[in-house]
Amino acid sequence: MTEASIIDGKGFAAGLRERVSRVAADFEAKAGRKAGLAVVLVGEDPASQVYVRNKNKQTVACGMNSFEHKLPVETPEADLLALVEKLNADPAVDGILVQLPLPSHMNEQKVIATINPDKDVDGFHVVNVGRLATGLPGFVPCTPLGCVMLLKDKLGSLSGLDAVVIGRSNIVGKPMAQLLLAESCTVTIAHSRTRDLPAVVRRADIVVAAVGRAEMVKGDWIKPGATVIDVGINRLPPAEGETKGKLVGDVDFASASQVAGAITPVPGGVGPMTIAVLLRNTVVAAHRNAGIGLDENAI
Ligand code: NAD
Repeated sequence: MTEASIIDGKGFAAGLRERVSRVAADFEAKAGRKAGLAVVLVGEDPASQVYVRNKNKQTVACGMNSFEHKLPVETPEADLLALVEKLNADPAVDGILVQLPLPSHMNEQKVIATINPDKDVDGFHVVNVGRLATGLPGFVPCTPLGCVMLLKDKLGSLSGLDAVVIGRSNIVGKPMAQLLLAESCTVTIAHSRTRDLPAVVRRADIVVAAVGRAEMVKGDWIKPGATVIDVGINRLPPAEGETKGKLVGDVDFASASQVAGAITPVPGGVGPMTIAVLLRNTVVAAHRNAGIGLDENAI
């Protein structure tokens, strides 16, 4: 059995950030201002703080403005909505991201619905969900868009391939399925109620695992030569002598990499793509909002 080739998401993301930096510099020269991303964080969830810090750092490193808004956990929902409205009206802000999850006294759907869809660089607003479903230009959630970029880079055309997406979340599974459909794959969405999941996965030329269960997808579920995209990020309990457990995906890498044709590792696969695509979406939003032409497919 030959070993699968490793899909280097970390390297691809670095290249994408370079392209975004060039496009951002070009935007600044044409528009007379930098593209800008506003990130709103409510509360002090440690994981969210790390994400927001990384987003800010990478936005600035790509030559764009990062506007960070940190609100205390007890902020009334009305105050958050008022901030979003202010950002909607601010011409220096091209993209708005409200870090999820929000505290339990806030209605996430209501907050997302308040973001101007043309600044919704996370692609979570129902208008953008509808645009994706109907094939109109909009914004697509960053993680699944990153997965499609990796797949097209590896395989070229995806037309006619059988794709199985495991997971049906609004953030990953459903938009992933829509994107693969738009690439003319034959798409199956599997989920927690799917019967005989291994048999369903065995049909797939492309497997996308977005479940949140450590090493669930085994090598003997994979069709020989298939391309496997592992979105999962799970931390195992620490082994003896370790302070922190190992990070693993939803795919059992050791067995799957013996069967697959190509596979993303965890870490270093899909993970680094998410922020890079967010930056890509932001520079695209800047061009659209300023009415400056851009070949979006070339980024
Ligand atoms: P989620 O919990 O919202 O959705 C999980 C989905 O998996 C559900 O639709 C459920 O039906 C399905 N599922 C659960 N158990 C199953 C089973 N036994 N068999 C088949 N399907 C099952 O999770 P999510 O937000 O979509 O995230 C999925 C994973 O991807 C998580 O590990 C998350 O950490 C990771 N993630 C990574 C990135 C990134 O790389 N940047 C971004 C988002 C999510």
